[in-house]
Amino acid sequence: MNKMTVRDIEVTGKKVLVRVDFNVPVDPETGAIVDDSRIRATLPTIEYLIERNARVILISHLGRPRGKVVDELRLTPVAQRLSQILGQQVGVAVNCIGPEVEKSVETLKAGDVLLLENLRFHSDEETGSAEFARSLARLGDIFVNDAFGTSHRAHASIAGIGQYLPAVAGLLLEKEINTLSDLLEHPVHPFTSVFGGAKVSDKVGMLKNIMDKVDCLLIGGGMAATFLKARSCEVGTSLIEADCVDTAAELIEEARRSGARLILPEDVVITDELKSESEWEVVSVDAIPPDKKIADIGPATIENFRRELKDSRTVFWNGPMGVEEIPQFAAGTQALAMLLPELNGTTIVGGGSTAEVVDALGLGDSVTFISTGGGASLKFLGGEELPGVVALRDKGTL
Ligand code: ADP
Ligand code: MG
Repeated sequence: MNKMTVRDIEVTGKKVLVRVDFNVPVDPETGAIVDDSRIRATLPTIEYLIERNARVILISHLGRPRGKVVDELRLTPVAQRLSQILGQQVGVAVNCIGPEVEKSVETLKAGDVLLLENLRFHSDEETGSAEFARSLARLGDIFVNDAFGTSHRAHASIAGIGQYLPAVAGLLLEKEINTLSDLLEHPVHPFTSVFGGAKVSDKVGMLKNIMDKVDCLLIGGGMAATFLKARSCEVGTSLIEADCVDTAAELIEEARRSGARLILPEDVVITDELKSESEWEVVSVDAIPPDKKIADIGPATIENFRRELKDSRTVFWNGPMGVEEIPQFAAGTQALAMLLPELNGTTIVGGGSTAEVVDALGLGDSVTFISTGGGASLKFLGGEELPGVVALRDKGTL
């Protein structure tokens, strides 16, 4: 990465304003944090700053309060969890800007950590207001962006603060960018990408950009139906994006031109309805009845995908192979996840649902890297610049 990081700047004794992505899933009934991996992912940066006696001011959003104070979306539980993990008290400020917050910041001692209240309680955050960015900037001497998962948004706290403070990357952001750049620039071959999930439209940019880098593309999940349709298979009542059938046909043609093998399911699990009690069966993709829909990849496809993956030296996986939220349609996704520890070489997982499945099976430590950014990693792999990265200082400019 050609951007400066927190390692390239003197932080000792400084007030360091760190944008993190603590947008963790919260149980709506109990308010408990369901998964704290986003909090844990920022520990390298936070610990780096504490060890160097910086005064650490964390800013984040949580959920979609749409510019209003929503009590359920306060960051207090996040600060509590972070306190437990760090083994040190993390305070929460009453707001994220204003004189009271400025006073709290002034009382911070070397190595203290303070979490400011949800940025999205102010509508100025999402509109990217320069005034709001300036109010945030008043709180620190240095700005660190470690919120990779939000860096595709030109929000005030992501893209605006760098106008007013020296802005550098945090260690998570650096790791994300370096890992994903290597995937695009120096993959060890054979390189196989596995794509699934609901929609083709979300992923067209990434599919196009990655096409001439991969040796093999395996396509499952809901999006396989649109590709099967483009190959003139009847897919019954499967979710297809009619306006993407031509795009899928183009992608098949592009893969052929660039010499990438694009492999679709040969058999699928079909059902009447995507519900946990629905009956299901496995059929060949050219025998899908008109009143059934695809819910998962079938066993022959799993076996075929397994063979391809075994021979690969780089694997990137984004999107579940079926409706993994429903146990009886989760087999394809789980089978691929269980295969990850057996593969040789680099294994990278991106996408919220995909990462959840891998984590839930306890496989998080046996893959090379799990990206914390769904939308951000899609955009980055699609070749787009991320506003939160553009806004950082280039190496050698401080
Ligand atoms: P990720 O979050 O990993 O990027 P996506 O958001 O693209 O993945 O897609 C996840 C969703 O795709 C899941 O909710 C899953 O139920 C859905 N999905 C997967 N396969 C199918 C299918 N065959 N039909 C309908 N939805 C599907
Ligand atoms: Mg998703």
